[in-house]
Amino acid sequence: PGSLVQEMFNLGEMVTATQSCSDETLLLLGEHLGFDVQIVSPEDEDRELLAQFNIDLDAVVAEERLVSRAPVVTVMGHVDHGKTKLLDAIRKANVVAGEAGGITQHIGAYQVHVPHEGEDRAVTFIDTPGHEAFTAMRARGAQVTDIVVLVVAADDGVMPQTIEALNHAKAADVPIVVAVNKVDKPEANPDKVRQQLTEYGLVAEEYGGDTMFVNVAAKPGIGIDELLEAVLLTADASLELTAPIDGPAQGVAIEAHLDKGRGAVATVLVQKGTLRAGDSIVAGGAHGRVRAMLDENGNQVAEAGPARPVLVLGLTAVPGAGDTFLAAEDDRTVRQIAEQRQARRRAASFANSRGRATLETLMEQ
Ligand code: GDP
Ligand code: MG
Repeated sequence: PGSLVQEMFNLGEMVTATQSCSDETLLLLGEHLGFDVQIVSPEDEDRELLAQFNIDLDAVVAEERLVSRAPVVTVMGHVDHGKTKLLDAIRKANVVAGEAGGITQHIGAYQVHVPHEGEDRAVTFIDTPGHEAFTAMRARGAQVTDIVVLVVAADDGVMPQTIEALNHAKAADVPIVVAVNKVDKPEANPDKVRQQLTEYGLVAEEYGGDTMFVNVAAKPGIGIDELLEAVLLTADASLELTAPIDGPAQGVAIEAHLDKGRGAVATVLVQKGTLRAGDSIVAGGAHGRVRAMLDENGNQVAEAGPARPVLVLGLTAVPGAGDTFLAAEDDRTVRQIAEQRQARRRAASFANSRGRATLETLMEQ
């Protein structure tokens, strides 16, 4: 470390041995000393870790049987434009149609069934509205959402967070369906919303564009079926929604918390393979054996395939939202993966805190 500090000084930069440097600086230093420096992203690092256990996340895709799966939808939009009401209305409409008397519980995601062109089609909704959840997951490298439903209140029009949400969806290259909400209000002007959004590249089909706009009123529950129809039409038109159903499950933890009676409970969304009760899984730095799986109606389920969200009981710790999970051969493997990830995270946060402390000291001088 001492000679590296000296070399950095020769290159014109004052650093301390415990300071974390930028990638560019490290590459430059390597070049200067004749070393080939490789920057490894956390995702690459994790792939290397999994490779030590003979797990190749991509190999599963190539080998397994593909089945069609439900689109996964995130609802975004400006505050008070009706995201929560819309998610409630969609869930409620489906419960009434499906299992009468079913007690829905908030598990962070739910699936509804829609009759569509003679078929029973499932749509999965992420039940935590807002772009924070969306970006948090993307920041962890988890691409969860297939379609964004952008909610715009027809009495308020396009607002700053409407644009923000729209930009997030565009950055993730996710198609958008616009739900023009609160059309029951006398002051509602749904056509104005369509006009406003053309300025941001979202042109309604009735204006010659290719974005579906649906007038809804979430509070009285109007237009919900039409919105679900639009989601499925958009999915079929622009997405190839298939996933391998065989093999060990992989996916993402949507949300998790510690429950007084049940211990760590995590809602996971299966993305590939099939998750079964009894499987050994690792989610981020948490691991365990799936003791039970529950659906959004509180019913036990024995297995969950692609795009199916389930509440998982049996983890020994609480994973973070957006952490990926996977099922593996045995308890020992998942425990070792979890332990190595924890050790890595501790090392990373230690390096960060030391780096910051050093910089703060420099600033004071
Ligand atoms: P969020 O902040 O986007 O989650 O918005 P909410 O779902 O909490 O709704 C904000 C307010 O708008 C609440 O008082 C809702 O009752 C009301 N609201 C939502 N949808 C409708 C609607 O379709 N019609 C009317 N009249 N009010 C609505
Ligand atoms: Mg809300």
